[in-house]
Amino acid sequence: MNRFTLPRDIYWGEGAIEELRKLDGKRAVLVLGGGSMRRFGFVDKVLAYLKEAGIETEFIENIEPDPSVQTVLKGAAKMREFEPDWIIAMGGGSPIDAAKAMWVFYEYPDTDFESLIQPFSFPTLRKKARFLAIPSTSGTGTEVTAFSVITDTEKGTKYPLADFNITPDIALVDPALAETMPPKLTAHTGMDALTHAIEAYVSVLHGPFTDPLATQAIMMVDQYLQASFGGDKSAREQMHYAQCLAGMAFSNALLGITHSLAHKTGPAYSTGHIPHGCANAIYLPFVIQFNAKDETTAARYALIARHIGLKGDSDAALVEALCAKIDQYNSALNIPHTLQEFGIVEAEFLQKLDHVAELAVGDACTLANPRKITPPEMAKLLKAAYYGTRVDF
Ligand code: FE
Repeated sequence: MNRFTLPRDIYWGEGAIEELRKLDGKRAVLVLGGGSMRRFGFVDKVLAYLKEAGIETEFIENIEPDPSVQTVLKGAAKMREFEPDWIIAMGGGSPIDAAKAMWVFYEYPDTDFESLIQPFSFPTLRKKARFLAIPSTSGTGTEVTAFSVITDTEKGTKYPLADFNITPDIALVDPALAETMPPKLTAHTGMDALTHAIEAYVSVLHGPFTDPLATQAIMMVDQYLQASFGGDKSAREQMHYAQCLAGMAFSNALLGITHSLAHKTGPAYSTGHIPHGCANAIYLPFVIQFNAKDETTAARYALIARHIGLKGDSDAALVEALCAKIDQYNSALNIPHTLQEFGIVEAEFLQKLDHVAELAVGDACTLANPRKITPPEMAKLLKAAYYGTRVDF
């Protein structure tokens, strides 16, 4: 049996955040990132709307990128003091992901991350609060997904939390917020969205409920990402919807080893963090080559290629064309094509290769990948992505 879960309500379009005026509740915590939402005046707007709704609001602010276990526990403690009946998270993936995890610890103070990393094992939420998400970046889709990624800074690893309990109740997908994204973030988050849609489309859990969302998202990314990167306002708006559709698809179909690699290599090297969407963009064509060795999966990539108007007289040719297209996107968006080009030092890369490969195989996203992979194969795949060589195994 399969399950398909989405927020109860998704409000989208210019002015969607005005829905807050009608929110039914008493106390809300507003969880925010580094300050851009305040700078652009969205925090004032939200406060005014919540006041109109008769809701008292407290803040949890300055959630860092890649939010940590400590940030989550601190936020949850604050929630237990204030006792909100709404958790409202506004911003990029980080504040929304952090707020989801805080929600679990707010309702279940005695739980711990070790038990939560078991996928789809959460206790029942909504005994104390409901959850509303307002995304400001166009990539993670976290406003509609059952996922949250929390970083354990001491162990240098990420916990991808997964459970339909943390799928938000309401998402307000307002393009005005996405207009504030700088070009680099637009590029990275846009390629993250494309990766979500492509991985969901070939995942072992894909099906008739998720396929239409994934293909629509892929076609919209193809049509709008480059213009959105260039600052076109209406393309920005369409990308904000496309990433949300991709989120709906992968929340229910899950992902694959592009994400396993991005999760485990992101924080692994001393030269600095590889941004999530950038890592996905680098790995995606190599992963497609690897997965396409499986014929059924190759046929599905070929369908994706046809959806965006690519030509080829065989599945293999269409898979080639799809990989070439992703290379073109990366070039147009100033994203490197290999880990070497990104600036990872070769000696460090090789020294950590086997360990990182093993971690990536163990990532939760590997389970939904359409082709099985061993740690030695993962290491070969990583090497291909480092040097930019063909994947022929
Ligand atoms: Fe992602």
